[in-house]
Amino acid sequence: MAFVLLTLRIVFRIILVIALADFLAGTIHWAEDAYFTETTPVVGPLFIRPNIVHHHHPRFFTHLTWWQSSWDLALVGALVLLAAWPLGLLGWPLGLFVALSVNANEIHKWSHRTRQENGRIISALQDWHVLQTPRHHGVHHSDPKNTYYCPITNFVNPVLERVDFWARTEAVIEGLTGVKHRVDTAVRGQGPGPAWLAEYRPNSSARHLQRAA
Ligand SMILES: [Zn+2]
Ligand SMILES: [Zn+2]
Repeated sequence: MAFVLLTLRIVFRIILVIALADFLAGTIHWAEDAYFTETTPVVGPLFIRPNIVHHHHPRFFTHLTWWQSSWDLALVGALVLLAAWPLGLLGWPLGLFVALSVNANEIHKWSHRTRQENGRIISALQDWHVLQTPRHHGVHHSDPKNTYYCPITNFVNPVLERVDFWARTEAVIEGLTGVKHRVDTAVRGQGPGPAWLAEYRPNSSARHLQRAA
């Protein structure tokens, strides 16, 4: 009995840690999509520009390496572990949380890759719903692109949708500050997108891809 309880406790904690990592990644994604623009100082060129590219040309980042997609998360993850060490907070829950968070962009990338590009193991993990499936992530890329922000699992987004989490949070922010969800030029009727997007267009981006690879 004690063994069963211990196992259940560990499984529950694993699911909780995975859900928290997915929710954090989704919250960052939502803030980028909703409030920051490419002209925002520092974060604009570093994070929002790739984000805008992704909404217009979702397959572009599948050509980038793990480091190109994850250097920023890896840096933050390392800082979190360094800060947790003297505080005695190191352990498997934090390790799992950081490992998932650091790889959130990469897991998101797998949702946009073909099965052939992903290989058998990742495809099987998606089929078993251990990782988010491309079909599930496709909801985020459907107009008006303002839902399903969490990129790691299939179970956090529906819970947030049930309570209308993002729309309610945006309503509170608008009520307090007057700031609304920004225009997304990748949504039909809200374009056209910025001129610089041309170099990321699949057919005309061969040169850029070579540079980025
Ligand atoms: Zn998005
Ligand atoms: Zn995506």
